[in-house]
Amino acid sequence: MQKVFHFDSPPEQYVADAAVLCCFDQRIRQVVNKFLRRRGILRPDMIVVAGGAKTLASPRNDFERDFILEQVRMSIRLHQTKMVMLTCHSDCATYGGLAAYDGNLQAEAENHVRELWRAADLVRASFPQVEVEPYFINFEGVWEANCRPGDRGC
Ligand SMILES: [Zn+2]
Repeated sequence: MQKVFHFDSPPEQYVADAAVLCCFDQRIRQVVNKFLRRRGILRPDMIVVAGGAKTLASPRNDFERDFILEQVRMSIRLHQTKMVMLTCHSDCATYGGLAAYDGNLQAEAENHVRELWRAADLVRASFPQVEVEPYFINFEGVWEANCRPGDRGC
């Protein structure tokens, strides 16, 4: 082997502050990284896949959903993760982008909140010992989907 880059990485084992499921869309990478720091999540186990929480809420097939659940299970087992952060984002290509909602930001956001809750219910049912935080990301920031669609006042 030939060394092509030098960088000193911390070799110590760690406890993960959260497992974070998010889309691989490059447009949201920076806001996700900044939000995690703001939220105090300095050691995240990043699960970065097309669609983010869609892989649990509306997976293309059982394999996709089971693979992601296994990633969460591994984070909990290997890094004692106590919290799972679920995210999805505006104009996500796996949903057909904003165009799939005829450009209606409100309709898109409402659908994503329903998706986030569907994913959150699955994670809570699979791993009752962890906290679950669902977030919607758009081009203005990060929104906590903190009430269940259909609940009073939501
Ligand atoms: Zn996406």
